Amino acid sequence: MAGGGDKVDYVFKVVLIGDSAVGKSQILARFARNEFSLDSKATIGVEFQTRTLVIEHKSVKAQIWDTAGQERYRAVTSAYYRGALGALLVYDITKRQSFDHIPRWLEELRGHADKNIVIMLVGNKSDLEEERAVSTEDAKEFAEKENLFFLETSALQATNVENAFQIVLTEIFKIHS
Ligand code: GDP
Ligand code: MG
Repeated sequence: MAGGGDKVDYVFKVVLIGDSAVGKSQILARFARNEFSLDSKATIGVEFQTRTLVIEHKSVKAQIWDTAGQERYRAVTSAYYRGALGALLVYDITKRQSFDHIPRWLEELRGHADKNIVIMLVGNKSDLEEERAVSTEDAKEFAEKENLFFLETSALQATNVENAFQIVLTEIFKIHS
């Protein structure tokens, strides 16, 4: 329990988007439960998971939404984006196509979400360096051009997952507290 009580000062909705199989559900499993599964099934049912953390002495409940296998273009409904203050825009560093689709996801996100939405571009599966198909430089350049935060993560090795959410939630906190 954060702060020894159950008082929640803020609830921030954050959405996960990006192509199927880039690791969204495992990133969420790592952040919410510190779990990882190599044979994760396509996401079923669960709309969101929460984790409460303390930011500047306030209790912040992060409500993280995961797509339920709706990753086809334009299949994610506007209800998914509604009220989201942050987003993790995820691609797989070993799948060029998942990075090439990022501009579409960004356009869809910007069309639906809060004007001040905090967006983190996430290159997942950084543990698979030998299969890399997207350079860190390309992604960094894109992120700078589009004003996004950027990190490479590994849900498998628990690298930068905590960091990615911390940065997004702290930035949301600065804007909305
Ligand atoms: P989603 O469709 O975007 O939700 O993707 P999943 O979270 O279901 O992950 C798809 C596949 O990639 C699963 O087999 C995961 O175990 C695997 N995966 C997810 N994250 C990583 C990672 O960081 N490294 C590696 N090597 N595999 C990962
Ligand atoms: Mg999934």
